[in-house]
Amino acid sequence: MANVRDLHIIVIGAGMGGLGTALAFAKKGFKHIDVFETAADLGFVGAGIQMPPNMTRVLDRLGCWQDIFKEATNVKGTSIRQGSTNLELSHVEMPDIEQKYGYPHCTGHRSSLAGGMYKACLKESAIKFHFSTRLVKVNSFKPKVSITVQPKDGDEYTVEGDIMLASDGIKSVTRTQMLAELGLHSEEEDTGQAAYRIMLKRSEMEHDPEMKALIDSDEVVRWVGERRHLIAYPVSNKQIYNISTAQPDVNFAKATNATYTTRGSKTAMLKVFEDFCPLVHRMLDLVPDGEVCEWKLRVHKPLPTWVHGCVALLGDACHPTLPHLSQGAAMAIEDGAVLAEVVAKIPADKIHDAEVITKTLKTYELLRKPHCTALVDLATLSGRILHLGEGKAREERDRLFRENGKHGVVPDKWASPDVQQMIYSHDCVKDANERFDAIYATL
Ligand SMILES: Cc1cc2nc3c(=O)[nH]c(=O)nc-3n(C[C@H](O)[C@H](O)[C@H](O)COP(=O)(O)OP(=O)(O)OC[C@H]3O[C@@H](n4cnc5c(N)ncnc54)[C@H](O)[C@@H]3O)c2cc1C
Repeated sequence: MANVRDLHIIVIGAGMGGLGTALAFAKKGFKHIDVFETAADLGFVGAGIQMPPNMTRVLDRLGCWQDIFKEATNVKGTSIRQGSTNLELSHVEMPDIEQKYGYPHCTGHRSSLAGGMYKACLKESAIKFHFSTRLVKVNSFKPKVSITVQPKDGDEYTVEGDIMLASDGIKSVTRTQMLAELGLHSEEEDTGQAAYRIMLKRSEMEHDPEMKALIDSDEVVRWVGERRHLIAYPVSNKQIYNISTAQPDVNFAKATNATYTTRGSKTAMLKVFEDFCPLVHRMLDLVPDGEVCEWKLRVHKPLPTWVHGCVALLGDACHPTLPHLSQGAAMAIEDGAVLAEVVAKIPADKIHDAEVITKTLKTYELLRKPHCTALVDLATLSGRILHLGEGKAREERDRLFRENGKHGVVPDKWASPDVQQMIYSHDCVKDANERFDAIYATL
């Protein structure tokens, strides 16, 4: 007898969203999941990542959180400091995140998060990875999905599937093609921001008491200045100190093509933070010349649709965000969990009905889009507040910082108890189950 779990699921991209999606579908019992990824392997970026409770809750249900947690730092608070002086503007204690939300807020290495999900995927015989294989184009969005893929050293070939989930990231080929076919547009919003990502080794830091205190702590530290900041935390069992920055984008604004990363100059990086405190200088000085990497931070206006036919976008492909709320990967992983939950609801006698598939995917979009859009906007707002220059608005911000979240509000939104309550208590799977029928009925 026909069963929804027999549907052939195609996943594009083995990034945070793609790995989470493949695993979520396998855990729901789907038997045929093909993942196509351009890179030869998981392409680990040397960078850390914050893993908030709304993400760790999903990872735990997928059975891979405990392994990732072994190397993670369980965050117990955050220190927000003035970049120029290292003086603390605010110290927000977070001793009880786990008690409040059922899961901790952690920081970790991206390779640990991606590797943990990948290892769990490898235990699922339903999932087949095709690395070094790029999606070239979507030939058909419905009633069957047909795509052309190309292995790095081979000829293009066609793949057919019942549903395609495109987690092909900020540069999504699927998004571009989907919108073009529908005569719609995706407008990029210039953030004017770029980021350096830096990883320092414990051995480089431990001779310096101030640096040692940072890598030994269970805290996220942010140094803020006008139009710039650094955020830092220990990862990998506190063997690595991860720093990422945000600063005005100079290099990419001048670029004539849409480059996303570039090898940066150490001199330029030091110049950006030249009026920051000596502690920041000492850390930045540890970055080897020639190993400075800069990212353009890109976002889009909310897309007119995430779905066409039997294809749905997820993660950065449809809601790229500034990193200031630390929710980009979390949202991508949640998207995958919700997709698996709703697709599994397709009745056995409707699994080859493309209209039912489209409505189901559209329900996923309606479940997720308002929440994700709100978080993307909040990340933008948080960046604006963190980057304030001198004046009344900054004085008011710093007054609020000094209250250390006592009245439920911290200007650095990720650390604000009211924002944490809204994001961390959101159980995306429970929400999908509670609202699916009502939303589906409106379509
Ligand atoms: C500086 C910085 C700091 C951040 N910090 C955090 C944080 O602390 N917490 C957090 O939750 N998020 C954070 N994020 C955001 C997070 O990294 C992204 O939102 C997340 O990785 C998105 O996942 P994704 O799967 O949608 O895309 P990606 O992880 O980018 O994966 C896309 C994948 O698709 C593949 N691909 C692309 N095109 C094709 C194709 N045509 N064919 C086949 N494969 C293809 C790519 O190779 C890639 O592997 C940060 C981002 C930045 C820039």
